[in-house]
Amino acid sequence: MIQTNAFEILSKTGDPEIAEVYVAKFRGDSNLLAEFVEARDPDVPKDEKWVIIVSTQFGCPVGCSMCDAGGDFRGNLTADEIFGQIDYIIGQNPLKRLFSVEKFKIQFARMGEPTLNPAVLDVLRDIPKKYDASGLIPCIATVAPTASRDWLENLLEIRCTEYMGRPFQLQLSINSTDEVSRDKLMPVSKIGFKDLSNFAQRFFEGGPRKVALNFALSEGNAIEPRIIADNFDSKTCCVKITPLNPTYRSRDMGLKTALPPDAPNEVDRLCNELQDLGFDVILSIGDTRENQIGSNCGMAVMKMRES
Ligand code: SF4
Repeated sequence: MIQTNAFEILSKTGDPEIAEVYVAKFRGDSNLLAEFVEARDPDVPKDEKWVIIVSTQFGCPVGCSMCDAGGDFRGNLTADEIFGQIDYIIGQNPLKRLFSVEKFKIQFARMGEPTLNPAVLDVLRDIPKKYDASGLIPCIATVAPTASRDWLENLLEIRCTEYMGRPFQLQLSINSTDEVSRDKLMPVSKIGFKDLSNFAQRFFEGGPRKVALNFALSEGNAIEPRIIADNFDSKTCCVKITPLNPTYRSRDMGLKTALPPDAPNEVDRLCNELQDLGFDVILSIGDTRENQIGSNCGMAVMKMRES
């Protein structure tokens, strides 16, 4: 067990070639567990691309059907507790990597919906001052709950000041173009497509990266390229397609990925249609070893609670 000022590490699992998942206990309270991850692309040296994924909440109030982080919400992490996760992983590596790495991604995409925690904005504001890393790319992944409208406006202000002209990745989890499916997958009141598109346009004006519309493909949840094109602008948004990763909850909810690695034809058709409509498409299959080591969101904490 390793004790830091912010938390106590309870476990470290995974594979250094793909992803290592830490579970930590915060404030000395066994109910306040969160996980964070050091991940890498096995095809890219860590000195070129380094990825840290942090939790922003203890559990998550949204409770998506495909995610083990939801359903057991116990509050927000503080800015210090979020920085503690980043500092801990940086401390496990040679310090010079921080200054020299080409892409240093800090993803607020583990346990918790980041837009429901105001402390995430404080962290985003301070990261460039705290870490002198020219390769820094913050990444926010959100289902865009209606309750996050003010948070997103604040994010935009930070994007256009602290990060003006620099890469900043915003990922909107869309998952289906069918509203009934979207509500089933992400059971929270969400900002509508037209307002999201408006926001994406304003966000894109701050820097070089398009806003990513994320679709984790699952059987029975439709994705209609024409609906995407009618609502979003290909000049400001790209489309990212991933498999639906297996979790305990997705299994219980009967969800299956619609992106089996051995049946690419349907996905090719979808990608081609989107490209014909002008969208850049990122097909991100990931490394299936991630599923074997159970490193998908919320799984490590759930396993520890059940052991
Ligand atoms: S996917 Fe994100 S918003 Fe949905 S339950 Fe998991 S952490 Fe929360």
